[in-house]
Amino acid sequence: MKRMEEKILREGKVLPGGILKVGSFLNQQIDTAFLKEMAREIAGLFRDCGVTKVMTIEASGIAIAAAVGMELGVPMVFAKKHKTSNVDGSVYSSTVHSFTHNTDYHIVVSSDYLLPGDNVLLVDDFLANGNALKGLLDLANQAGARVAGVSAAIEKGFQGGGDELRAMGIRVESLAVIDAMDDTSITFRS
Ligand code: 5GP
Repeated sequence: MKRMEEKILREGKVLPGGILKVGSFLNQQIDTAFLKEMAREIAGLFRDCGVTKVMTIEASGIAIAAAVGMELGVPMVFAKKHKTSNVDGSVYSSTVHSFTHNTDYHIVVSSDYLLPGDNVLLVDDFLANGNALKGLLDLANQAGARVAGVSAAIEKGFQGGGDELRAMGIRVESLAVIDAMDDTSITFRS
């Protein structure tokens, strides 16, 4: 998505440690007009796939996932983060290693909201090593749900998570894929 690449070049800031800061439109302040554009683009890619639910992880994926759900006319479910795996009720849970915080955390979703008949579109703000999305994939597998595909607003292709998921046969659609970046330049995959 050309508009996403332009937005990243205009507003993104590359921080040490391979982090791209996009607080002006995606991670702290949300550019709501642009959110709608992103959501329309993602929804357009998966419109004919019979998606029954969009799923993400709190907190940074919620805005974009909800907007995609609105475009597709389906519910959005977000996995909650828990420090321990002690959760009550009937839930699916998985462990995710956080790239940005360098810690492990548990994600849980109630079995009431993820059903064996679901066809789930997994959405997140960033796809880096792919651990967050692999955690969501694990939850969908535990529920016996199908996964229509994965979509990230921004994929950091140089970390390899997106290509790993593609190699697993999963459809991955990212609005922009960054193949290299430093504090002077950002290169997108063509
Ligand atoms: P992964 O699990 O694919 O390594 O990382 C994905 C998660 O880490 C995303 O949900 C996102 O919140 C966070 N993340 C990874 N890389 C970046 C980055 O460069 N910038 C920001 N703002 N978040 C990132």
